Amino acid sequence: MNPVILLIEDDPQIRRFLRASLVTQGYDLIEAGTGREGLALAASRVPDVVLLDLGLPDMEGIEVIKQLRGWSGVPIIVLSARGQERDKVANLDAGADDYLTKPFGVGELLARMRVALRKMVPAEEGRQEGQYFLGNIKVDVERRRVWRGREEVHLTPIEYKLLTVLLKNRGKVVTHRQLLKEVWGPSYIEQNPYLRIFILNLRRKLEDDPTRPQHLLTEPGVGYRLRDE
Ligand code: CA
Repeated sequence: MNPVILLIEDDPQIRRFLRASLVTQGYDLIEAGTGREGLALAASRVPDVVLLDLGLPDMEGIEVIKQLRGWSGVPIIVLSARGQERDKVANLDAGADDYLTKPFGVGELLARMRVALRKMVPAEEGRQEGQYFLGNIKVDVERRRVWRGREEVHLTPIEYKLLTVLLKNRGKVVTHRQLLKEVWGPSYIEQNPYLRIFILNLRRKLEDDPTRPQHLLTEPGVGYRLRDE
């Protein structure tokens, strides 16, 4: 069974481009040109991933996300225009899983879709229970221990929590607000400086060159992404 992708997009050029790329890759594609049509198809066809354009003729993308999230946990990848950082953040906070900025390459889209689809697989093959490898970094979630190469790294409880939230979402962008809420709690969602300091600390401990992070990536104006490997 091929994964079913629902594309909600009114631009015929982007639809043509995505149709060609996704069908070649073995995905089943269903398409909607409006938000209303997209919501109806999401209910009747139960897709595995939704690709959602933000500027639709009948409603804002964020409205589609809010309505969809009322009854569905399907991964949603937002397709946004350049320079819409605020929109991206609002859409991610409303329940979208990730975003791509137009124009994007097929390789990038496929990588994001793989991350989105992986959520559905309960256990990954060849991976020991509770252990994660990110390049030379190893995290043992069961024992709450972290190594960089052969050296064990000592993280503070907050640093560790921050790392595990990113790890849980690895490959995906997590907004500042989501991180602050999950690590510090709902009353801290405006405290971006906290987050910056702890991200710097984590980079200092985990990255070979903290000024050029290879794992803990900044998504400018949006949040952070732990590179998936
Ligand atoms: Ca559009």
